[in-house]
Amino acid sequence: MSYPSFQQKKLPYFNDIQPSQIEPQIQSLLTKNRQKLAEVLSQTGPYTWDNLMLPLEDMHDELNNKWAPLSHLHSVLETEELREVYNKVLPLLTQYNTELSQNEKLFQAISTLANSSEFAQLNAAQQKIIQNDIRDFKLAGIHLSADKKARLAMLQQKISQLATKFSENLLDATQAFTLQITDPNEVKNLPPQALELAIENAKRRGLEGYVLTLDYPSYSTALRFLDNRALRKQLYEAYTTRASELGPNAGQWDNTVVMEEILQIRHEMAQLVEFDNYADYSLATKMAKTAEEVLTFLNELVIKSKPIAEQEYQDIINFAKKLDGLDPIYAWDLPYYSEKLREQEFDFSPEALRPYFPIDTVLGGMFTLVNKLYGIHIQEQPNIEVWHKDVRFFAIYDEHNALRAGFYIDLYARPHKRDGAWMDECRSRRRMNGEIEYPVAFLTCNFMPPLGDQPALLTHDEVVTLFHEFGHCLHHMLTQIDYPTVGGINGVPWDAVEFPSQFMEYYCWEKESLDFIAAHYQTGAHLPDELYQKMIDAKHFQTGLQMLRQLEFALFDFRLHLEYNPEQIHPVATLLQTVREAVSVIPVPEFNRFANSFSHIFGGGYAAGYYSYKWAEVLSADAYAQFEENGIFDRVTGQAFLSNILEVGGSRDPMVSFVAFRGRKPTIDALLRHSGIN
Ligand code: ZN
Repeated sequence: MSYPSFQQKKLPYFNDIQPSQIEPQIQSLLTKNRQKLAEVLSQTGPYTWDNLMLPLEDMHDELNNKWAPLSHLHSVLETEELREVYNKVLPLLTQYNTELSQNEKLFQAISTLANSSEFAQLNAAQQKIIQNDIRDFKLAGIHLSADKKARLAMLQQKISQLATKFSENLLDATQAFTLQITDPNEVKNLPPQALELAIENAKRRGLEGYVLTLDYPSYSTALRFLDNRALRKQLYEAYTTRASELGPNAGQWDNTVVMEEILQIRHEMAQLVEFDNYADYSLATKMAKTAEEVLTFLNELVIKSKPIAEQEYQDIINFAKKLDGLDPIYAWDLPYYSEKLREQEFDFSPEALRPYFPIDTVLGGMFTLVNKLYGIHIQEQPNIEVWHKDVRFFAIYDEHNALRAGFYIDLYARPHKRDGAWMDECRSRRRMNGEIEYPVAFLTCNFMPPLGDQPALLTHDEVVTLFHEFGHCLHHMLTQIDYPTVGGINGVPWDAVEFPSQFMEYYCWEKESLDFIAAHYQTGAHLPDELYQKMIDAKHFQTGLQMLRQLEFALFDFRLHLEYNPEQIHPVATLLQTVREAVSVIPVPEFNRFANSFSHIFGGGYAAGYYSYKWAEVLSADAYAQFEENGIFDRVTGQAFLSNILEVGGSRDPMVSFVAFRGRKPTIDALLRHSGIN
């Protein structure tokens, strides 16, 4: 079979990127865009899609095409020079975007088009772009008086400084504490990797023995494996009082006032643009419509999972009593006894699965899966220019062998590459003078590289991660929307964007799909039934406790922004206490200052939006249930998912898309069943 190949000229030339050229290139592109915008807005005659919105889409896309490969290189192949340029260019882009969001003439022009007779003739994607723009102008305070606008801009500056301060305090507090241990007996049960790290940490500081830190991997491992209860308590206390008025560095990097100021500013910003509170402001761009809807959703999950969590907690108490005569048990004992209980119950190490997941088998299996579901074919194209020898490029073709999209895949950890796994956009689908520009994605992971002659072998967790990120990529790449701002993942509300990625994860747990995703790297044997069963059994260990923990975070975040009242003193501590009383089954020590390190909502973008994780899980579980009903590889159901969810991207309300696929609104039943909570 012959396939048309991707053209290099449509893709970045990574080897030609000169850091010294980046700033002038971006500067000149921004100047060009500003001139172009001024021309567009000075037109005489009525505004139309073609003379207003299309040039805007083009300007946006051209800037993205230039910036995407640079920003990507900054993440995966960082150099001093690149970092410096990146930090120089970023504020230029922020300023450009602020200018656009405050451009009254542009707002008037788009509003005129929205109210014109042409609007009704436009297709759904075009209408959605216009509606989104008008919404975002309003959220940015376009209609406010000059002094209120200035106030809003000042608050925006202030809040970004406070968020940075919050993160810096947390980082400094985390790094300030270390626990030195000199007796090897105290650390003898730490896993080998953690032990090595502790020795290295000590050496680096010129100390004897072992040093434990509050970095999460080090901390969480220590709490699970340190036999000495007093040491566990010491670590727990240091960790849960970080950046607060308590603990070993009490008051030194205290986030209490920072959090209160952030809340107060968010509240004022929301009220400036005429919302009652910040939770309502946050919902203006989300799939969930009302605060009531979010609270009802979270509370229903609490009711379902609490009895299970109570039982799981009781199991740990009983186990600790039986094993060590421990009674009562405290927060710093829970991870330790949970780990021991897990070992006893399942007799299973995730490492045992690694030989069954050689990278090429996993990739091949993943491509077979999407062929079964959507009829697409994936072919490697080795002649495309990449930024590192380990990077590979693949092209996607539809059933009739027509080109659909492309993606780069960069799988292994190496120096100067950011941690974690993620997808990013390289090119967006767009129609230019009648011709399609195909979407291209970056898929990035940090797996252990292959050693010697052995292929790279993944853990099951890593396979799940790969499928998850590939799910985001497919959303971006299979879009049939020709406008970048609502194509693929763009314009998809925050609480729905994880839906296609979480959906892919389900296939990593099915025996039927594991039969082509997994094969022993030496013998080619399938995953043995016994090992598969252990993996499935261990999946739901303490599922109720895990669910409740996420719900506690989500409810705390949401109610904190919903119920905020400037008159109240200590709003954070008071609400945290209220939520814990309602949700948690585990007593939390009085000194625990969890909120002071909750960077998702104070240092990141999750304010009044932490619930999004669970929200999207409802969609993905319920959509997957449709496949369970019709056959998990059913091509007709796959086609319906492709055309109703993946292809439409952000061009319509995700609820409309969900109902079009499922024939009804989502229910939480499938999520509960898949979480082992019924
Ligand atoms: Zn994701």
